Formats: sequence, structure tokens, C-alpha cells
Amino acid sequence: MKKTVLGLFIMVDACGWEIIRNDPFCAQFAPQRKRLESLFGYSSTCVPSILSGRWPEEHRNWCYFVYDPKNSPFRSLRPLRWLPTAITSRRIFRRFLTKFVKVQLKFRGYFDLYNIPFRYIHLFDFTEKKSPLQPGGMNRGANIFDLLVAQKIPYFVSDPHRTEEENRDALIAHLQAADIDFSFLYWAGLDGLLHRVGNQSPEVPAKLRVYEQWIEQILAAARPHYDDIRLYVFSDHGMANCDELLDLKSRIDALPVAMERDYVVVYDSTMARFWFFNDRTRQLITAALQGVPEGRIVPDDELRQLRAFFPDRYFGELIFLVKEGVLIVPSHMGERPIRAMHGYHPSDQHSYASLLTNQPTIPDDVTTIPHIGQLMEKTALLAKERNAAGPA
Ligand SMILES: [Zn+2]
Repeated sequence: MKKTVLGLFIMVDACGWEIIRNDPFCAQFAPQRKRLESLFGYSSTCVPSILSGRWPEEHRNWCYFVYDPKNSPFRSLRPLRWLPTAITSRRIFRRFLTKFVKVQLKFRGYFDLYNIPFRYIHLFDFTEKKSPLQPGGMNRGANIFDLLVAQKIPYFVSDPHRTEEENRDALIAHLQAADIDFSFLYWAGLDGLLHRVGNQSPEVPAKLRVYEQWIEQILAAARPHYDDIRLYVFSDHGMANCDELLDLKSRIDALPVAMERDYVVVYDSTMARFWFFNDRTRQLITAALQGVPEGRIVPDDELRQLRAFFPDRYFGELIFLVKEGVLIVPSHMGERPIRAMHGYHPSDQHSYASLLTNQPTIPDDVTTIPHIGQLMEKTALLAKERNAAGPA
């Protein structure tokens, strides 16, 4: 049976406004485009915000690792601290262990042990135990998949364990069968490429051309079965080249205070988040950070404006953020530098996300990435209503 409306949402990770500003990406089939504000944080917050149409302060999917020894699921890894770092810092060993831990702990979301030292792993909890790509996947509140299930709207969603091509083909099979009203396709390849080669590499426009071909294939599969395809191609954030490295850890380690006894820190790649156990340490570390010109302490008022302020300080009592283009190395995210990164201030040039569509206009009130979630909700409900009525 021919359906009428298809909500076709395609997220191209890290396809920021600056990446496509001077590129005709999707111009043939999605000529309307708009720069969107992203959020303060990483994909760990941007993707859940898109999927829920809400902000970090509401859904509490923000940064991955938090100081929470009582609830730490990693205590069983503590004996590994005796292994030489030559082994434990190896990517291949970490990857193996990440898989092992994920199965053991029944994590459903994205999980990576990254570069968290085993000596301290028992201090931390991991905040994305559920998959935001599934119903019931948010730390707090509902996402689009809860709505789709509750409304009995048949849908497709990417499986992050599959390749980009496999997800594309799985979607195409559903479109040929015309058995869905809504889809959320998630391609992560551009993000990985940009981290590796930077935002000026000729490999970037080449990858965009590949995505265009794939989207053409998806549209070609949908057209015979749907009259009204509402296509939205968008990103969660952009990508900035990292031209300056900051060894923040050495500076903090040089202070007369001790990790675990006086404070705990998570070094993300663009921010450091601290918890303090005494005032002297708070003062010493605060003063030290104020002397680091590559970044600054983000005041609570600003966190509130960014809607990433947590009154219980769950994600850290003090948040230090570096300037765009600076990379914290080593960090708990990686031992070695990478070419480009995101997770800078949302008002920095390369942080902005993008939204492209085949619809005649992008509403004025769609200005920031959680609004994509609200657009998805409206489109899914419209598709349900129209498709229940049958073709006009
Ligand atoms: Zn990334």
C-alpha cells in the first residue's frame, strides 16, 4: 500500500556549519539550510538532546565519567592497576577490555574505557548505561523512541554496531517494503574522519559526496512508496582543528595535593571536571587553573545559560574549558593528540551544527539542536495521522 508521509531524519555526526558553509552538500535535494547552535558537551550530550528535544539540565545525559565511588561498576577492574602501563595504555588492550566490561555490566549505550587509569577507575561511574537510541534510553524523561512506541508509529533506527552502509541498506529495505512512517539514520563516519584528518582535508568533501549518493539511493527507494518525504539532514556539532596541546595534568600533578585524597578530576579532551574534598585543595587548584591562559573556569551562571548546570554537582564542582583549537593531552579520553576535536564553547566558530531540508522553510523557532527533536516529534505524529487516513 502506498503511504503518504515519511519522516526521514539523517544525522551526519560532526557535519557542522563550517564544514558545509562553502560546500553544496545536499543542495540538489535539500536546498534549505540553517546554522544551528549546538550544546556545551560532547556527542554524549548532543545526541540525547536531539533525541529528546530537551537540554542536559533536564535529561542528565552530559559527560560520560563522573566521580561516584559508591556506585562505581568498575571495582572489579582494580587489580589491573598492577599491570604495567605499557600494556594497559595500549589501545588494543583497552578495546578488548571495553568490550568485556560492556558485556559484564550489561551497558546498552556507547561505552569506552578510553584512557581512565586503572588505579582510579573504582572512583568513577559511567553515565550512559542505557542506549539513547532506544525507548527508555534517557537518564531522565522520554525520547523520540518512547513516543514512537507509545503512538505505535512504525520506525527505523540505526544500530550503532553496524557499519554506515549496513544501516543505509537496512533503511532502504524498510522503505522498499513501505513498512515505516519514520526513520532516524545515524552516520558516524565523518566524525571519525574529521578527528583524524582535520576539517581542511580534501577527504572531507569527498566523504560528503559519498553521503549525497547514499541519500539519493535512500530517496530513490522511498519515492515509489511515499508521496510526501520530509527529509532532514543535520549534525549534532561541528569540528575544530587542534593546533595547540595543553598538558593540564602535569600542572595539577605538580601541586602539593593528591588525587583521590584531596580531589578527583576527569580530564575530557576539551574540559577538566573537578571534585574537591577540602577547601585548601579547591583554592590551590582554582588558582592554578586561573593561571592557565589556554582555558578558563566556566562560572555557574554561564552553565545555567547553557542549560548544563547541575545543582547537585553530579558532573563536577568546577568545570574548566579550553579555548577552541586547544586539546588537553594526555587526557582520560586519549594518551596521544588527535587532529581535530569538538566540545568547545557552543559560541566558538566551529561548534555550530547544521540542518538541511527539502521542506520549503525551516521554522524561525528552530535555532538549536534540541529543536530537531521537537521537529521529529511533530513529523512523526503528522505521518501517523496522514498515513492512517490513507493516500489522498
Ligand atoms: Zn567526535
